[in-house]
Amino acid sequence: MGPVRTCVGCRERDQRSALVRLVLDRSAPQPRLVVDDRACLPGRGAWVHPATRCLELAERRKAVPRALRVTGLLDLAGVRAHLGL
Ligand SMILES: [Zn+2]
Repeated sequence: MGPVRTCVGCRERDQRSALVRLVLDRSAPQPRLVVDDRACLPGRGAWVHPATRCLELAERRKAVPRALRVTGLLDLAGVRAHLGL
């Protein structure tokens, strides 16, 4: 069994490979959320299942900004588009 992470949406633990890592791209004028496909970008990451349900749960709980220690809300539209959801 490989490394395990907790999904910020459903709060269930799963294989790292079953989750995607979200990080904040601070190089943009307006910090935006991006999917760290190779799970190698520096900084804090939030792990979530690439599933509509988990993104919705994460959104409702404001779990992504909390995990990334960001105040305010983060738009998940770009993440959804990236994941084809
Ligand atoms: Zn989940």
